[in-house]
Amino acid sequence: MIRPGRMIIQVLRSLFKKPATSLYPFVKTEMPDKFRGKLKYYPEKCIGCMLCMKDCPSDAIVIKKVGEKKYIAEINLARCIYCAQCVDSCPKDALESTKEFELAKLTRDQLKVVISEETQSSSEPKT
Ligand code: SF4
Ligand code: SF4
Repeated sequence: MIRPGRMIIQVLRSLFKKPATSLYPFVKTEMPDKFRGKLKYYPEKCIGCMLCMKDCPSDAIVIKKVGEKKYIAEINLARCIYCAQCVDSCPKDALESTKEFELAKLTRDQLKVVISEETQSSSEPKT
């Protein structure tokens, strides 16, 4: 058991220490480099080899051909385990892990993201 005198010293010390926690979500936390967050897809780089689909352990990504050398990605963020295997497998750097992690939505359907050349800039979930 800690003696009262020692306890008071510890309490006083902790008053002047920087808190170990942050006031999230009011204070945003910068994720470390190589953080594996929400995927970004670059349709203009994609060659439709489907390696990302084959290597995905949770069937979370589907690449579809929509025209001559044109592809879109359907990513199910509810299934994705953010392992970044698809990023490693892609021979054209058409997939990238971002630092985005605040992905909560009200419905599962909102977690199905379709990324094409048209939606690439927003990459917001298709509702
Ligand atoms: S990060 Fe992992 S789980 Fe998510 S789509 Fe890529 S391979 Fe699949
Ligand atoms: S692995 Fe890369 S290039 Fe191949 S289909 Fe997937 S995103 Fe496109």
